Amino acid sequence: MAEFPIGIKNLIATFERLPGIGPKSATRLVFYLLNTPENYVAEMARLLVALKKDIKICKNCFSVSEKDLCPICEDEKRDKMTICVVERAIDVMAIENVGGYKGIYHVLGGVINPLDHVSPDDLKIYQLIERIKKIKQENKEKNLEIILATNPTMEGEATALYIKKRIVEIDDQIKISRIGSGLPMGADLEYADQATLSRALDGRRNL
Ligand SMILES: [Zn+2]
Repeated sequence: MAEFPIGIKNLIATFERLPGIGPKSATRLVFYLLNTPENYVAEMARLLVALKKDIKICKNCFSVSEKDLCPICEDEKRDKMTICVVERAIDVMAIENVGGYKGIYHVLGGVINPLDHVSPDDLKIYQLIERIKKIKQENKEKNLEIILATNPTMEGEATALYIKKRIVEIDDQIKISRIGSGLPMGADLEYADQATLSRALDGRRNL
């Protein structure tokens, strides 16, 4: 069997590491790029390098940002007493696109998953608890709500319950809710349509 040149083989292997891309798709993408105008590929390469160089992680909520603080954390009009906890920055975008949510976020960076060797310490859970402590200290009279919006998967549910336990340990008066109704079990927030996501947020239940 004929072999591809090394440059093509290496690029196929790189594409295969992307989520949802198997060997066939990776090969198709690489050959597509091979036949595409050079300036398109050059622009893509430039953006890929810039992605790692210019995009920062917000030091408050761990979402993506161009500055130390993301635009949502910087926005004075956002309700700092409502924190929506999500798995990934892409979930922040999904909820923002629905519109209507006025609170702020906390991006965990994944879910607890023993099979993938992801423990609570690998996520931004400690940082969430510290954030909650600080907000409570500065706003003793105000009510704080934590919306646990991890995906409705087994790992997402387990992570939500773990975080709830940790929050109750520091203060059992904090309102903790879980997004629900409408999101099918095993669903991914990022792929939910806007109406479903909006219902899931509005229909959140106490946890
Ligand atoms: Zn932020």
